[in-house]
Amino acid sequence: MPTIIDGKELAKKIRANLKIECEELNTKGIKAKLAVIMVGEDQASKVYVRNKSKACDDVGIEYEEYLLDENITQKDLINLINKLNKEKTINGILLQSPIPANLDINEAFRTIIPEKDVDGFNPVNVGRLVLDQDTFVSCTPFGIMKMFDEYKIDLSGKNVVILGRSNIVGKPLIHCCLNRNATVTVCHSKTQNIKQITQNADVLISAVGKAHFVSADMIKDNSIIIDVGINRLENGKITGDVDFENVKDKVEFITPVPGGVGPMTIAMLMNNLIKATKRQNGMID
Ligand code: NAP
Repeated sequence: MPTIIDGKELAKKIRANLKIECEELNTKGIKAKLAVIMVGEDQASKVYVRNKSKACDDVGIEYEEYLLDENITQKDLINLINKLNKEKTINGILLQSPIPANLDINEAFRTIIPEKDVDGFNPVNVGRLVLDQDTFVSCTPFGIMKMFDEYKIDLSGKNVVILGRSNIVGKPLIHCCLNRNATVTVCHSKTQNIKQITQNADVLISAVGKAHFVSADMIKDNSIIIDVGINRLENGKITGDVDFENVKDKVEFITPVPGGVGPMTIAMLMNNLIKATKRQNGMID
């Protein structure tokens, strides 16, 4: 029988602990506060932002939303980030992607100061991750590492195959796994013979964004499967990248969608925000 990794339950536990930390901060007169910037009307982003605001409420984190018109200029976006960088009451800044293609998201991520970069996208924080130094790790990879900790999954010496090389998931994951002594292979849209590679994976992490991309014949017996994908089917249901029903009986551990990686991503955002708040108040190095 496979173990279904329950991201929803673990995220709930992490958030309950963060709530206690938040209350302790309040007794010292410190209020943790997140600023979220969203540009334009992307429907999926609206759902993500709503979920983040609910999670903040739940943990006791204050929350400020900046909904910008899709025609905003790069200069105005950068000016807003600079203003929030200087604002003492704001501890973390999150720019929800995607933003309109005419805007330079890399410049925007670079502008969020590393101390408030709770998404871990500033190149300084990415560099620290590459060097295995303390940093803000981007929330989805960080959430996956927390799942490994909770289920006592040791990556050392394991063949980890990552499907996808995006800046927000695949690339930081490479270093998270490497830092835990895994042997890491990354596949992307130009990779040849993916099946041959995945069949050798002790741990397979899929972040492609295609429903049923990972089929049972691609999987090694008794492996560990982490499904990052969020795909909406024609019937409106959400599904991951993995053909869960046909894969689950071959594996040792597997994450469901929904209820797997998604809730962990939000919990790690809250975690990073509390860490940023403590650091800005001189409570941790
Ligand atoms: P992305 O930026 O679109 O990246 C997708 C990656 O998949 C790219 O590296 C792409 O390769 C690769 N790819 C596409 N087709 C492929 C194929 N046929 N074979 C092999 N690789 C292929 O997406 P993302 O932002 O990383 O997100 C990936 C998925 O995770 C999406 O479904 C997204 O909604 C979901 N997601 C979930 C969470 C969560 O909290 N659960 C968080 C973030 C994202 P190239 O680089 O060559 O184009």
